[in-house]
This record gives sequence, C-alpha cells and structure tokens, in this order.
Amino acid sequence: MNAHSSPAANWGIIGHEWAVDYLRRSLRHGRNRHAYLITGPAAVGKMTLALRFAMALNCEADAVERKPCGVCDSCKRFIDGNFQSIGETNEPDVIIAQDYVKQRTRRDTSSGRLSIDDIRLLIETTKSGSAWLYLKPYASRYRIALYERFHLVLGPAQDALLKSFEEPPPAVIQILTSDSPAAILPTIRSRAQIIALRPVPKAPIKAELRRRGADADHAELLARLSNGRVGWALGALEDDAKLQYWQSALDQLDDVLAGSLLQRLKIAEKLGSIKWVTETGEATEAGQRVSQRVALYNLLEIWQSFWRDVLLETYDSPLKPCNINRHAEIRRLARSMDRAAALRAIIATRRAMNSIDQNRNTNANPRLVLDALFLDYPALK
Ligand SMILES: [Zn+2]
Repeated sequence: MNAHSSPAANWGIIGHEWAVDYLRRSLRHGRNRHAYLITGPAAVGKMTLALRFAMALNCEADAVERKPCGVCDSCKRFIDGNFQSIGETNEPDVIIAQDYVKQRTRRDTSSGRLSIDDIRLLIETTKSGSAWLYLKPYASRYRIALYERFHLVLGPAQDALLKSFEEPPPAVIQILTSDSPAAILPTIRSRAQIIALRPVPKAPIKAELRRRGADADHAELLARLSNGRVGWALGALEDDAKLQYWQSALDQLDDVLAGSLLQRLKIAEKLGSIKWVTETGEATEAGQRVSQRVALYNLLEIWQSFWRDVLLETYDSPLKPCNINRHAEIRRLARSMDRAAALRAIIATRRAMNSIDQNRNTNANPRLVLDALFLDYPALK
C-alpha cells in the first residue's frame, strides 16, 4: 500500500492508521458516539486526530471515502483555522473548549485547566440564553466540542461536565484528549469511546521530516528523539528551540552526574524553585505548580530516554541509541558503571515521573522528589 492509498492519507495523519480506519468505519455506518476520549503520550497526535475527525464529521462530501474533502464550506473553515470564530448572530458549531472560554470570559485558559465556572459556561443555560452545548447546529451537521489536555481539568470540574455525557444533547459530539487516561473520572471514561494512541514508528516520522525538507541526519536524529511523538518531531523541525531544550536538559543531567552529593542537592534546590522555561519557551513561575510540573516531567522524560540508551549500551546492543548525537558520551558512561546502576537510574527516574504525575494537582514540593532521585543516581568514578 503506498502512502496515497493508505487510510490515514487524506486525513493528513502520520501513523495511527488503525484509529483513522476505526473512526472512518463509524462514520460510514453512522455509528458515531456522543463522546470520544483520545489518550496517548504528549504530542503523539491526539489533537490532530480530534480535529481531523471533527472535520470529517461535518464534511459535506457525499462519499465517506472523501471525508474530509478539504473543499466544502465546512472543511474550509477548518483549513483556514476560523471554525471557532463567533459570528454576530451565531455561536460557532465547533469549538475547542479552552479557546471558547477564553473568548467569552477573557480568562487565561492557556494552562489547559478549566474551572467549574468554565464548564458551566458550556452547559448551563441562563437567562441570557442557551448554553453552547444545548444550541442547535447553525451551519453544520454536528456541534462538536474538543477539549485539549483534559487531564489538567480537576475532578470537580470534570464532574460538572458529567451530565452532558449521561444525557447527551442530540447532534452534539464531545471529544476529549488526555495524556493520562487515569486522570479522567471513571464515570466520564465509561461513557466515552476510548481511542488509545501509541507512539508512532520511526520510519513514517522520518519520512515526513524528509518530505518537509530535513536532511537525512537531522531527520534521523529528530525521529529518534521524538520517541514516536509526531508532534514533537515536526515541531522541532520548525523550531530549533525544542532541540536546544533537549540538549540543555542533558547538559543539566551531566552536571548532576559529575557533581558531589552537596552539589546535587543544590541543583535539586534550584530546579525545585527557579523560574522554569518549558520546551515551548514560556517562562513559568515556581508558584504556577501545574506548568512547573509539566516542565519537570518533560525534563525527566528526556533523562529517562538517556538512561535507556546507557542501559542498552551496557548490552553492547547493535541498536543505535535514541540520543544518537551523544553516542560517545553514552558509551563512556556505560563503560564506567555497571548495568545494575543504569537500571536503578531508569527506575528512579520513572518513580520520580510517577510521583510528579500523581501529585500534579497538589502542592507537594518537587524538590523532595529530585533530592531522592539524585541520591539514587550513580556516582561516577
Ligand atoms: Zn468537506
């Protein structure tokens, strides 16, 4: 099957063919559900799939095979990116919940978090008019609400949305995306069709990077580092800052490993309290726990990929490391420590990630997590 006839091709999705195939079949048989929950690692392509599915749902083409056609009025609104714009007399038929709330209230929703009040805005009809969710479609077949990073929405706010899942309004389809299925209330999860996306193989990511003009070495490096997260790879091709962030995260790890116990604890203190710059370049205050935790989690993910490479290297594996541009350093480290120490470092990093993830909505101090992690990291000879 060549790229043009593959089922995912006219959806413009890299990988995830089974998911496109599944959604297309439900379109064909008119068996669309009222709610979908798309899960998978950050930047793996959840929101891209959600948007393409929304586009296909409202596409005016006759044949399912041609949806989304890209030329009908509805498709054009998606392609132009103005599908959410609010007209003088009408509300948009398709919204990204965070954007809609921001337009309506001017509240900053960039953290992805929606409050109970934000959810009420969507579902509670007031004197001034019907809530968005209970309006009839204006110019489309369906009204579609997309929720980005729904794992950041706290339980009580999720709960406020539950009624719309229990008694879904006709012609409304809600699509949630979440990095972590466990962060979604079971009552919501059980009422949604779950689409669990997995990391995409390296080859299609590399091919897409090449198609977009990357030279072979750069495409290989980004495809490896992406670990199957298409969005990261394509973003890093557009914006060098992502790769720089990755490299500075590994430089930071070098400092930890080279440091004495005291120096390590000082680094933990610094990382636990300083202003953070995320890989998208936004500075976050230590007080903004959610953003700080996302940034810290990203950092630990990068370290984890590095430790996996070191462990692999202790086996003299013919497989090339993910961090291929640091192969010499990985080889050196693998020689200077035993396999058990590399394994311990991976497990400790994973444990720290879990701890950050589970406490993402509490004020638990990330510094304590880092203290414990750095004590577990090997001392280099
Ligand atoms: Zn169309």
